[in-house]
Amino acid sequence: MSATGKQETEEEETAVDTARHQLERAAAHLDIDEGIIERLKHPDQVHRVSVPLERDDGSTELLTGYRAQHDSVRGPFKGGMRYHPGVTEEECIGLSMWMTWKCAVMDIPFGGAKGGIVVNPKDLSTDEKERLTRRFTQELRDFVGPMHDIPAPDMGTDAETMAWFMDAYSMQEGETQPGVVTGKPPVVGGSYGRDEAPGRSVAIVTREACDYYDFPLEDTTIAVQGFGSVGANAARLLDDWGANVVAVSDVNGAIYDPEGLDTRDVPTHEEEPEAVMSYDAPQKLSNEELLELDVDVLVPAAIGNVITAENANDVQADVVVEGANGPTTTAGDEILRKNGVHVVPDILANAGGVTVSYFEWLQDINRRKWSKERVNEELEEEMLSAWNDVRAEVEARDIPWREAAYVVALSRVAEAHEARGLWP
Ligand code: NAD
Repeated sequence: MSATGKQETEEEETAVDTARHQLERAAAHLDIDEGIIERLKHPDQVHRVSVPLERDDGSTELLTGYRAQHDSVRGPFKGGMRYHPGVTEEECIGLSMWMTWKCAVMDIPFGGAKGGIVVNPKDLSTDEKERLTRRFTQELRDFVGPMHDIPAPDMGTDAETMAWFMDAYSMQEGETQPGVVTGKPPVVGGSYGRDEAPGRSVAIVTREACDYYDFPLEDTTIAVQGFGSVGANAARLLDDWGANVVAVSDVNGAIYDPEGLDTRDVPTHEEEPEAVMSYDAPQKLSNEELLELDVDVLVPAAIGNVITAENANDVQADVVVEGANGPTTTAGDEILRKNGVHVVPDILANAGGVTVSYFEWLQDINRRKWSKERVNEELEEEMLSAWNDVRAEVEARDIPWREAAYVVALSRVAEAHEARGLWP
């Protein structure tokens, strides 16, 4: 039951509810001071700012922006900035908590943050988006910084937005500060390999999961929902490594070839938006049918909440690797668990993005660029190390991958709180 006495349905579970449930579930396995758990249920700070935007027609509109900063015990706050009409304070808080766990499971010395502006980016001209970003940066200037809080792109924002953010911040500081944001274009301190990183980490983790469950890659069938940055990069790498990617999809539907698709020939979201269905495949399916295919591995890599109480019983894959953020609802997850489906969680699988963001920040503060080869090598190393840490908990405690990932993350955050103590 919710605080209002209403029966909570799947739809009503907010990001912060989900984040707190996951925290409690992980805490049940660990002996952690209640005071620390209570602190971790709440953000350190939430900033709410008013952002006046001068429209192209000369009128002024007042927009609202947020930055939730959850926990910085292991290092500066880190997380995306989204421009979306559905941005709320609660959502930013929930997503900032997820970022804390994602950084901790990867053992990256950052804490979690998330922010954004309540705006539909499709209603903004490029000039308006630039003015809005520069003013938002100014409103947040006291709360962000390379050693304090480092935003990144998210829904509705991109490398160009980050370049404006970095420029506005740097102009006010009087010196170039590329480390204030990540996900920038490489020419202004962005990292090579950052765009492909979340998809690459999904591919690495899928490969490791196949190895763990004794599916030789060349005999493994994989279905990938979403053929954008995460889905297409993951699908193509797995295809390169010998796996049979039999189905991929975009918002319009899915293509299916039981013999395996040539994923390099299927247009990605970036190459030609929403053109997956134009590929000449033996069968066309709906996105719902893709999720229910009898494959070894299912990679939901499009949007959140696609595996729910309604369809989880129809998932036939042995392993689900979460490419998108939050593709499985709590109720859907429970059903998969009962059915013996192994779910490798988003905070581990797509953490290549934040990991290469960390590499970008290291390059920025050290003023030393890494080659793409070095980025990919170090990403591989970090992913294997995180995979092994989570696997050790799966085996030692006989718990699912999601719970194990949260146990690893929470242990690290809680130990850091213990070690630093509570300043009066
Ligand atoms: P993207 O915009 O590059 O691609 C999204 C793909 O999903 C497109 O092919 C689109 O057609 C498809 N899609 C959209 N709505 C759909 C629907 N209702 N059903 C089926 N397909 C649909 O996005 P992306 O960057 O690949 O992000 C995908 C997911 O991964 C999101 O949940 C995002 O939060 C998460 N993620 C992204 C990154 C990143 O850095 N790109 C990092 C971590 C997590």
